[in-house]
Amino acid sequence: MEAEVTDATTEEVGKKSGVVWEVKNLTKLFPIKAGFIASLLGKETNVHAVNDVEFEIYDREILGIVGESGCGKTTCGRLLVRLETPTRGTMQFHGQEIGGLKGRELKRFRRSVQMIFQDPYESLNPRLSVFATIAEPLIVHSVGDTIEDREELVRKALEYAELKPPEEFMYRYPHELSGGQRQRVAIARTLVLRPRFIVADEPVSMLDVSIRAGIMNLMLNLREEYGIPFMFISHDVSVTRYMSDRIGVMYLGGFVELAGSEDVIKNPMHPYTEALLSAVPVPDPTAKHGRVKIKGDLPSPINLPPGCTFHPRCLYKKDICKSQVPEFKEVEPGHFVLCHFAGELPIVKPDDEYVTEEICKYCNATIKKGMASVQHSCGANYHEECADRVKACTVCGKEL
Ligand code: SF4
Repeated sequence: MEAEVTDATTEEVGKKSGVVWEVKNLTKLFPIKAGFIASLLGKETNVHAVNDVEFEIYDREILGIVGESGCGKTTCGRLLVRLETPTRGTMQFHGQEIGGLKGRELKRFRRSVQMIFQDPYESLNPRLSVFATIAEPLIVHSVGDTIEDREELVRKALEYAELKPPEEFMYRYPHELSGGQRQRVAIARTLVLRPRFIVADEPVSMLDVSIRAGIMNLMLNLREEYGIPFMFISHDVSVTRYMSDRIGVMYLGGFVELAGSEDVIKNPMHPYTEALLSAVPVPDPTAKHGRVKIKGDLPSPINLPPGCTFHPRCLYKKDICKSQVPEFKEVEPGHFVLCHFAGELPIVKPDDEYVTEEICKYCNATIKKGMASVQHSCGANYHEECADRVKACTVCGKEL
């Protein structure tokens, strides 16, 4: 890209070479309305959307974030582009603290970061033509003196987004475009200000499988050609693996595992990552692969469980997990895991084939070595968690 648009924060120089983002103890709480009695007592209730998150993003890097709905990954992305204000913590972009920016400084920062949203059917205004949609940020940031200048910038942005020839798309409206073309328009809108960082929030999950690859390759090309670092948010492990250099696995507002993409996929060390990976379908009907289940539902982010937040669902938990918060420790170089027993658990790797005689007679999932289990007098086996839920043995009908 040529330099028609000057970088918004070129005077800011990163403290560490190659570090684009340095995030420490980032926390976002959303207050919720207290009841009448609670408000009289001055009690505050919050949703813990993001909790003490720490990570760095490097130059030209794509950091993937995976996790189930409600784990805080979108809030994390919105914090980085300052669509949300952090409650606590620091977030430095090329060495400049961003968390407390206001007014003009915040507007100047926002010019250098952009976000691609999940749904191109919602994120484009149906009343605006493609030209008006892409030119809007130019007007907001007073870029380009004349309509011709802006037309030229929009034309180039469309070319970067591979909508060619741009003249064919400039004066169309969203309803005249396919889903893939709409997402390319959304990408062109993020590129027109020549951003230095992009958050892509589930950018392909609303698209047909046939056009996903085109959009993903477009983003990879943008990184290759222009060196733009990305945060790529998705609930799809396979898509995140294809896109990312490193993957952070989020659970209940915090990272539970962070490492190089292949490391996370081939050598998972956290029980939650193990369960996420085992849920990925294997395109081989003969594969003898156990399905690792986790118990129960995601706990409420209003009242976080004490100790390890994953302990109510973890099949490996021990007493210490219920009371002590584990450390996010570097188990292998660059491989961080939030678990008291990281590196010691018999975590199943996706390439492992295992068949076991021990199947829980309540949930039908595998009882692996190291998991807390109960054997009934009739010989039926149960996960300890499952045994708590059933009163009578599902095999012999006698009390457990
Ligand atoms: Fe499971 Fe305990 Fe590790 Fe948490 S700390 S993931 S409960 S084993």
